[in-house]
Amino acid sequence: MATPTNVKPVPCPSCEGRGEVSHTVRVGRKRRVVGEQSGLCLTCLGTGEAPAGEERSS
Ligand SMILES: [Zn+2]
Repeated sequence: MATPTNVKPVPCPSCEGRGEVSHTVRVGRKRRVVGEQSGLCLTCLGTGEAPAGEERSS
């Protein structure tokens, strides 16, 4: 088995490694900001790591 030694987890660019992102909630015609809502980051699916661009399986 090959042991990955130089694998560095890349922080997700969308959530900066937090695993969740905050969305600004706006309502009305004037788009009044009523608050922020945090939700699961869809880029990394909550892992906080950027999805690997290419994987080597050997
Ligand atoms: Zn993310």
